[in-house]
Amino acid sequence: MPSKRDLTPNEAPRVSGPLPGPRSQAEIEAQRAVFYAGQTHGSYPFVAARKSGWLVEDLDGNVFVDLVSSSASVPFGAGREDLVEAATAQLLAFGNEDSHVVTNPLMTQLARRLLDLTPASLTRVDLALNGTEAVESAVRFMRRATGRPMILGFYGGYHGESTTTAGLGAEHHEIGQGVRGLGGGFAHAPYPRAYRTLFAPPHPGGSGDSTVDFIRDQMLFHAIDPAEVAGVVIEPVLGSGGVVVPPDGFWNALNELCEEHDWLLCLDEVKTGFGRTGRMFASELWDLQPDLMCLGKAMGGGVMPIGAVLGSEAVLGTFDDVSTGSTWAWLPAACSVALRSLEVFEAEGVLDNVRALHQVSEEVLVPLVDRYESIGDVRVQGCFVGIELVTDKDAQRRAADLQEALAAAILRRGVLVDSSTTTLNVQPSLVMDPASLRAALALVCEAVDEVLGD
Ligand code: PMP
Repeated sequence: MPSKRDLTPNEAPRVSGPLPGPRSQAEIEAQRAVFYAGQTHGSYPFVAARKSGWLVEDLDGNVFVDLVSSSASVPFGAGREDLVEAATAQLLAFGNEDSHVVTNPLMTQLARRLLDLTPASLTRVDLALNGTEAVESAVRFMRRATGRPMILGFYGGYHGESTTTAGLGAEHHEIGQGVRGLGGGFAHAPYPRAYRTLFAPPHPGGSGDSTVDFIRDQMLFHAIDPAEVAGVVIEPVLGSGGVVVPPDGFWNALNELCEEHDWLLCLDEVKTGFGRTGRMFASELWDLQPDLMCLGKAMGGGVMPIGAVLGSEAVLGTFDDVSTGSTWAWLPAACSVALRSLEVFEAEGVLDNVRALHQVSEEVLVPLVDRYESIGDVRVQGCFVGIELVTDKDAQRRAADLQEALAAAILRRGVLVDSSTTTLNVQPSLVMDPASLRAALALVCEAVDEVLGD
């Protein structure tokens, strides 16, 4: 196996020969023989040997620049030593502990820090193992707090793969397959978006936002009694579903609708939280004061799994009979890394770097829309980029095959991007240096020209 010395940004990326290389190929065949047949859907055509910073080395010695960051769960690059040490110290002190049963002071410190950093409406915390579990618990809290069964989600939203979270989400019909017809209690509205919207600009005398007008005038008139709705679960910026930033007017209109019907507002910040959008939490972009907030992914510094549900006093302080969480939620090592990660944000100017990376993505990628007929839209928000491939600009029809071809051409150049079910997403490490991102995006542009150029 190549030495650690090889993984320096100057030498990356480095791809020799077709993918997968022979060693990866043998491993992929071995995996296919033992894993659930759907396990490796969407896997890259190589097998990783190790990672360092934002570089990934495969079994054949190819080195890739990682612009995916483990589904945006690794904010500061792979295996940062100070974070690993923070975890190791607590693993040596506690091993695992079920923090629901034997508590420790680290969890109190972490809960306090989270409440300090998040909107003032949130005063209490519940433990979760990851984002999926946080959303599962949030849905149960919403139903218990209101005594109402229905939850409103959004097309394009992703909340996890469990039965509840796949039913709440609607990124792509495949994710809810087998679930949608069974579990009731979820309704969906279109995510508020400028690109690929079917709505006209808001009409005078309406709520000020066409999506909310649609919910009010159509969904709540024809299909759903608002008194049956516990509330809304929404990603404040659509993540996996393609980096969509709602128009400002949406939030006022949504807040008014929630107030009118006593609905709870739950923000799923599992992906947007901890810096990805250029703010610590995306809720800060509009100064939102939600009733609940779900956290996960980058909360564990890319080292340990951890998630949380934050809630208002009315939701998390007034009843105690909803049983939530699981054995490994908030194990002491995960709390320790989460606390240390929050220090990294402050000490290392991470959010400033995210804004610098935003500039680079905007400068390099947004102009592609004017240059290529098949690039319908490019949206950038911090270290989140969504690229829409279309069969033609006017029709705005999705071009899944082109997206796959482009992702493969990018990969051949040694850059990892996330070809999601809706868009080609780019999610660099929050601490990547801007020059390295620029170099990696130059390779993305080269691939775009190869696949989409005349
Ligand atoms: N919510 C959102 C917005 C997500 O993006 C994800 C994961 N992509 C989840 C929830 C589920 O988190 P996890 O898979 O880490 O449990």
